[in-house]
Amino acid sequence: MGKVLIFSAPSGSGKTTIVRALLERFPQLEFSVSATSRAPRGTERDGVDYHFFTQEEFMQAVAEERFVEWEEVYKGTCYGTLRSEVERIWAKGHVIVFDVDVIGGLNLKRIFGDDACAIFIMPPSIEELRRRLEGRATDAPEVIERRVAKAEFELTKAPGFDRVVVNDDLTAAIEETVGILCDFTGFDR
Ligand code: ADP
Ligand code: 5GP
Repeated sequence: MGKVLIFSAPSGSGKTTIVRALLERFPQLEFSVSATSRAPRGTERDGVDYHFFTQEEFMQAVAEERFVEWEEVYKGTCYGTLRSEVERIWAKGHVIVFDVDVIGGLNLKRIFGDDACAIFIMPPSIEELRRRLEGRATDAPEVIERRVAKAEFELTKAPGFDRVVVNDDLTAAIEETVGILCDFTGFDR
């Protein structure tokens, strides 16, 4: 078994921004492309950002036990970690990067144990989280409301993670995360 890095956060915390920076800097890291039943947004590409499934395809994959874990993250919208991704990335000798919701992160930590480092990306405040979601301009106002409401619950789960990184200043948050990942993997900074 190889190593895995798990990133979870309330939506809008800056997790995707931080994960992208790490993937650019460390070629030994590889992103696990999840499956989702939601539609692509913005510039997202099938097979790169997500494997975009219909709800029927998603439930078929659940029945075939193709997921390590899966969740109905938002009502009617499912996301899941494919076993094939884990095998594909470890076969190359790379360290897997998971970008999953908070419950999925805790489930993956339970599954991978000491082979996993679970990192919670924390927003400086709920108000700032809302500002970032509005600034990202990818979600309708009612979607933003749902994400903010969920964030309050998700913040209570931070103590279950190995490490918590507050994403206030982005550069500082990236550097702190680089330190954590180098300690865990033995990579040079
Ligand atoms: P997540 O993946 O956690 O949902 P994103 O990475 O999409 O979040 O970030 C949400 C928005 O906040 C994006 O528009 C991003 O550019 C912005 N952002 C990320 N980190 C910071 C930061 N430290 N300060 C201000 N804005 C940020
Ligand atoms: P978004 O719609 O903003 O891309 O993602 C919504 C949430 O689903 C994010 O918190 C994201 O991390 C999470 N997510 C993405 N893939 C998976 C997955 O495979 N499993 C779980 N549990 N959550 C996921």
